[in-house]
Amino acid sequence: MLITCPYCGPRDLSEYTYQGDANRTRPDPASADQAAWNDYVYDRINTAGEHREFWQHSGGCRAHLLVARNTLTHAINFVGFAREHGLPKHQERRKGGEA
Ligand SMILES: [Zn+2]
Repeated sequence: MLITCPYCGPRDLSEYTYQGDANRTRPDPASADQAAWNDYVYDRINTAGEHREFWQHSGGCRAHLLVARNTLTHAINFVGFAREHGLPKHQERRKGGEA
């Protein structure tokens, strides 16, 4: 499987590290809502079709990417920078703290 990094071009999957499901929303860290945390940590949607995922080009430019991949065909329909298309909530917070 090839993922086309916006900086580096098409590269083999072995250069990338899976960073997680891009469809989940992390609860507020101050929240004590156990049902929301249980859902975030354990529940997964086993999508048959297009699925949004975070990947890092760890063997290349190290960019964090949002990838839309069809789980049935492995066709990649979209690749963009995670910062432009939806960072995980904990990374948005970290990014804001550095500014
Ligand atoms: Zn890259």
